[in-house]
Amino acid sequence: MRIGIVGGGQLGRMLAQAGAPLDLRFTFLDPGSEPCAAAHGQHLQADWQDPEALNTLTDTCDAITFEFENVPAEAVERLAEQRPAYPPAQALATARDRWLEKSLFRSLDIDVPPIARIDSQADIDTAVSEIGLPVVIKTRTMGYDGKGQKVLRESQDVAGTFDELGGVPLILEGFIDFDHEISVIAVRSRDGEIRHWPVVRNEHRQGILHCSVPQVSHPLQAQAEDYASRVMNELDYVGVMAFEFFVTAAGLLANEIAPRVHNSGHWSIEGAVTSQFENHVRAIAGLPLGETARLTPCAMLNVIGAFPDRDAVLALPGTRWHDYGKAPRPGRKIGHITVLAADDETLKTRIEATEALLVNDLG
Ligand code: AMP
Repeated sequence: MRIGIVGGGQLGRMLAQAGAPLDLRFTFLDPGSEPCAAAHGQHLQADWQDPEALNTLTDTCDAITFEFENVPAEAVERLAEQRPAYPPAQALATARDRWLEKSLFRSLDIDVPPIARIDSQADIDTAVSEIGLPVVIKTRTMGYDGKGQKVLRESQDVAGTFDELGGVPLILEGFIDFDHEISVIAVRSRDGEIRHWPVVRNEHRQGILHCSVPQVSHPLQAQAEDYASRVMNELDYVGVMAFEFFVTAAGLLANEIAPRVHNSGHWSIEGAVTSQFENHVRAIAGLPLGETARLTPCAMLNVIGAFPDRDAVLALPGTRWHDYGKAPRPGRKIGHITVLAADDETLKTRIEATEALLVNDLG
């Protein structure tokens, strides 16, 4: 069976690595000349919307999936007319627009921060007076890793914000004084079965994920699972989805979903019975889902912008190295390290030893 993936970055690369033992083959549609996933499959070099390339993908692949959400809706629909293509177009369209996304959460009785839809500077002024400073303003589409965002703290920060962010549609959110951030990764099969991995505690630096630690008995596991299930059932979702939340004194507030395998689930390659990557390909290929239990205390550390001394990391006990085969650039995710241990105390020591070797350049 051959799976077509729209996008050829590290997520596609790790999907192909996970599919290899199942003898699944992969084709990546990517406009780049040497996308890092191409090392593990065929590369179709073309624009995401190129009709000829899309035809080749559907002619040569048995099922199609996506590595990111910014795929034009027409391209997704064109693919889905010919072959099973997951997740569905509506899930991608919802996840790439922060306003549609938060509106979906609200319609499903999932708590979100105070929000306002912004189409002008006047909308910002009104929303700030209603919600109160500080607030976060984000572009509705194309934002990632904290890009396309601005925090307004003082009243003098407010003027000119609409133009500063490019005069594009925005969403304004109350600034949440959260205790910590978590995500839950979940997978839904073609016949509607849902499984969740343990909730992951995430630490960001400069808006970019630094560290993810799966928690086996987080008090909000059941609520996070329930919220993820509501969204997946509503969207008739197939594949892996990540759901990010702020943990506050009042419980969970939903931040965003990612309609794909997610950076906060990379620990599952070594740390779970079945990884997010394997369960995603199983789901889209129509295979039974695998168990999602955590095997041992573990954590994932991102390698960003610059590589640490690889052999020094390899020599540490309990570490596993993942190089995405990408050229280092400030702020670019170029690899990750999984740290594993038999108990929480040893894990903490090992995370510290690994972090001491990191030379991340966040840009
Ligand atoms: P996002 O791209 O929406 O995931 O935002 C990136 C990061 O900015 C989040 O992981 C949070 O750390 C922070 N952030 C986003 N929205 C808010 C908010 N409403 N209040 C406080 N911090 C936020």
